[in-house]
Amino acid sequence: MNVQTVAQDAFKNKVILVTGAGAGIGRQAATSLAAHGATVILLGRTVEKLEQVYDAIVASGGPEPAIIPLDLKGATEKHYLDMAATIESSLGQLDGVLHNASELGVLGSIEQTDMAMFDEVMKVNVTAQLNMTKALLPLLKKADAGRIVFTSSSVGKKGRAFWNAYAISKFATEGLMQVLADEMSNTNVRVNCINPGATQTGMRAKAYPAEDVSLLKQPADLMPLYLYLLSVQAQENGQSIDAQPK
Ligand code: NDP
Repeated sequence: MNVQTVAQDAFKNKVILVTGAGAGIGRQAATSLAAHGATVILLGRTVEKLEQVYDAIVASGGPEPAIIPLDLKGATEKHYLDMAATIESSLGQLDGVLHNASELGVLGSIEQTDMAMFDEVMKVNVTAQLNMTKALLPLLKKADAGRIVFTSSSVGKKGRAFWNAYAISKFATEGLMQVLADEMSNTNVRVNCINPGATQTGMRAKAYPAEDVSLLKQPADLMPLYLYLLSVQAQENGQSIDAQPK
């Protein structure tokens, strides 16, 4: 895919919601979007981390962000509907959503799956994203160019032993993206998926505690693709794109 560079003011007057904005790739995406002019809605479960991102954006002269503290594990349809109403009344618009937050769960064989763990991972990584998307679609459809980016993984494209709930949830994410992209094909909304590839974050360290982190990409290295797919320039729809193609 041809990743076009976006202009420095590509997100001026745009409002973009980033889930899991307090750490890792989500934090980087939020600050990069703000640096390109976006008013960013920082959604996550740990308020102090969101406040740190807020402070960093304001300190660097970006538009004042909004914070939505929400643990996707316990969130209900009402939370998402209230959230959509608040975004509309306070910011007046929503131009894009980056579904980035997810949980790794416990890696291990299917035979030994802890079903409570499985349910939690599916709730956070799949159900919450569907529920949130459903509530936000009316706003995104009103935007000139609504953009939705989901986050996949290589284990969500080809099954790998012991990746359990996480891998299954990422296959479901790919499916959700494809179904929604097809439904949106005659609208101004574009729906795609990014597979970040191995990236130095807390989640990666949990999955691969012994690896040499100096060999990993940093979240900042991935940003050209994230910015492009969330921008007006992107016309792709229904694609799952590797940020680090082999
Ligand atoms: P991190 O663990 O560093 O960050 C995940 C973010 O999601 C954190 O801010 C976390 O909040 C938030 N989050 C997790 N659970 C919830 C919840 N229940 N409710 C609200 N927020 C939650 O992960 P990465 O940055 O590495 O991952 C970002 C995305 O990229 C994920 O979807 C991941 O699956 C995907 N990915 C990452 C790869 C990598 O190598 N890093 C490779 C392939 C895919 P808090 O900080 O408060 O815990």
